[in-house]
Amino acid sequence: MSHYLKHFIDGAEAEAADGGRMPLLNPVDEREYATAARGTAEDIDRAVAAAHVQLTTGEWSKLSGAQRARLLSQLADFVERDTDLLADMDANAIGRSPMEPRMMDVPNAVANLRAAAGWANQLEGRTIPTSGYMGVPTLSYTVREPIGVVGAIVPWNSPLMITCWKLAALLAAGCTVVVKPAEETPQSALHLAALCKEAGFPDGVVNVVTGYGETVGRALCEHPDVAKISFTGSPEAGRAIQRSAGPLFKRVALELGGKSPQIVFDDASFEEALRGCALGLFVNQGQVCAAGSRILVQRGIAQRFASALAEAASMVNVGNPRQPGVQMGPVAKKQQFERVNRYIQRGLEEGAELLAGGVSSPDQGWFVKPTIFANATNSMAIAREEIFGPVGTVIPFDTEEEAIALANDSEYGLAATIWTQDLTRAHRVAAKVKVGAVGVNCWSPLDANLPWGGLKSSGIGREGGLAGAQAYTEEKVVTVLLPS
Ligand code: NAD
Repeated sequence: MSHYLKHFIDGAEAEAADGGRMPLLNPVDEREYATAARGTAEDIDRAVAAAHVQLTTGEWSKLSGAQRARLLSQLADFVERDTDLLADMDANAIGRSPMEPRMMDVPNAVANLRAAAGWANQLEGRTIPTSGYMGVPTLSYTVREPIGVVGAIVPWNSPLMITCWKLAALLAAGCTVVVKPAEETPQSALHLAALCKEAGFPDGVVNVVTGYGETVGRALCEHPDVAKISFTGSPEAGRAIQRSAGPLFKRVALELGGKSPQIVFDDASFEEALRGCALGLFVNQGQVCAAGSRILVQRGIAQRFASALAEAASMVNVGNPRQPGVQMGPVAKKQQFERVNRYIQRGLEEGAELLAGGVSSPDQGWFVKPTIFANATNSMAIAREEIFGPVGTVIPFDTEEEAIALANDSEYGLAATIWTQDLTRAHRVAAKVKVGAVGVNCWSPLDANLPWGGLKSSGIGREGGLAGAQAYTEEKVVTVLLPS
């Protein structure tokens, strides 16, 4: 019998109110390896009620920032202790090599929890000089209060890391949470909730309800006792979430998709730019929001660069990521396999030059060939739309101005990378690209102390750093009359 994953509500495992389950499929062989509770609006009600009690009258509501910091530090230690287990859970669920989450996602999650432990005791208010009230002097000060119960809705591509970005900041701020993991990847979120209990968080502070976005995700967004929705996922779901959360004026933070440019100038270190572009295209099978999938290369080196990238793509060993020597597993799900292939077909039809990869046939497992298109234009669908797979589109440019114009000619604005040896140019271009994060000679540098988030269709708000924790607070002002 396959493993059965239940919700985690008020400190205990719980079945769906109607007993429903959903299958979890292994992307390598398409077989069911577990089932998870298929949540309902009733399950969300129970989880929100538990979170609300802890927010308002429970033990959690009485803890100081320093006490919350201790719990977060303890949680960070437990996540670090369980690195291999958590990396395996996330990797198995989406067919990724466990080495990647072991080296990147879990350490980043731990770093975020530790950084947030530092912020928990530093969410200070201000004293603000005013001109008094009706001629009487006043003292005005502000305090930062937890925003309330948060609904954290998470995608499948880096489940533990993204859950921890949200959890770390909101727990530092004193909020409580109902996590809605992606339907494909509930396991690490459930284990994280169990680690919260082990670390000493009171029951009901962290709850996890598994299930589908259109049912449990939506119920969370529409629940009157949820004050904020922190969402990471696609722009389509982001729009639906804003609509659901809008009537009650809930706070909404949206970390959405991208079509991030990698701008390679002809003075760049060819090898470093090549390595960085390959990493930005192929890590996690290209299923990364900041994937550097639009590769803008100065014309003089464009052909040579595209050929070298195609060679790198052809050398990637695709297969079962559990087998030695395999560098890339399948994409996470059938819809993703079909989506990526659809875009590759579209690139061919639009006249881009295929240098490596191509449309993959639907054998057992959702394996996609790493694909490179060259001589593309920025108006092609493969340059404008997020593919979320191992597909790179190389577009030549002539001048710095043209590179900036191409970089900004996108519905998205998440990240950009600039490859050049000329640091004056790097700063000049960094100032002009309309994105949330720029890497100069490094692709997608993530750090717990840095803000992360996008512009335009890439989202609203920032996670990470002090501002990330402050985003889970409301600033209240108190004015005291001081008659002489
Ligand atoms: P998705 O939008 O399909 O799903 C994300 C989550 O939202 C899932 O838990 C899903 O169940 C839930 N959901 C779906 N519809 C919903 C609704 N109507 N109401 C409430 N919840 C709903 O995204 P995905 O396919 O899981 O992830 C891929 C997307 O995530 C890509 O676009 C990628 O760029 C983006 N992403 C962004 C970042 C970032 O930091 N900006 C990070 C990772 C992934």
